[in-house]
Amino acid sequence: MIEVRGLNKRFGDSRPTSVHALRDVDLDVAKGEVVVVIGPSGSGKSTLCRCLNRLENPTSGEIRIDGRPLPAEGRELARLRADVGMVFQSFNLFQHKTVLDNLTLAPMKVRGVGRAEAERTAHELLDRVGIGEQAAKLPAQLSGGQQQRAAIARALAMRPKAMLFDEPTSALDPEMVGEVLDVMTSLARDGMTMVVVTHEMGFARKVADRVVFMADGEVVETGTPEAFFDSPATDRARDFLAKVL
Ligand code: ADP
Ligand code: MG
Repeated sequence: MIEVRGLNKRFGDSRPTSVHALRDVDLDVAKGEVVVVIGPSGSGKSTLCRCLNRLENPTSGEIRIDGRPLPAEGRELARLRADVGMVFQSFNLFQHKTVLDNLTLAPMKVRGVGRAEAERTAHELLDRVGIGEQAAKLPAQLSGGQQQRAAIARALAMRPKAMLFDEPTSALDPEMVGEVLDVMTSLARDGMTMVVVTHEMGFARKVADRVVFMADGEVVETGTPEAFFDSPATDRARDFLAKVL
């Protein structure tokens, strides 16, 4: 579903200050696979996610989604972005729109879905993430956990082929982390293709098909959760795990 080959991203042109945020990253995510990306702050995890739906332009390398190269711009890009849903640390809901409108706007505009169908789907999805009764509220009237579940439902409303999550629980109060991880777990069990950047090691162990460990812009290790957590192959991974576990 997602193929990344030789992906490089540099920020800034002038050598002394430029940051090489991604270095020759290769990544394959099969249909229905859940890949959890972990690694220290600044290792390039967010940049990788942002390149995957072209919120960031790669410096070099190839990205294919469902066999098709990532288009650089225009309508093709809009369609592709719709195929890859993204959920961020900050919930990014439209604050002046109701929860329901947050879910219906893009499907109507980008997918050409009619209002009645868009609303029916939206209600189904809000029920699925457990906030069916919040549809008429504004985001600010919801808790952080409810807002993040609304953001997940909004991404799902586009019927994406894959979902990217960039630290979706990092901005939440601790008591709300579980409800968001539960929604993600159920999505994974339903067969969604997912790339999840997270520091929630319990989630990684339980839900990931594969863990990708990044450091300094590189993929340093990749393996099953058992292999990675129980017998990491590199010093960098061992050092990281010693700090977070
Ligand atoms: P992570 O998500 O793993 O914490 P990021 O992908 O955010 O890491 O960042 C990787 C590196 O790229 C860091 O050194 C960061 O400072 C740098 N970086 C990220 N975004 C930008 C940007 N827009 N401009 C300049 N440098 C950036
Ligand atoms: Mg990040």
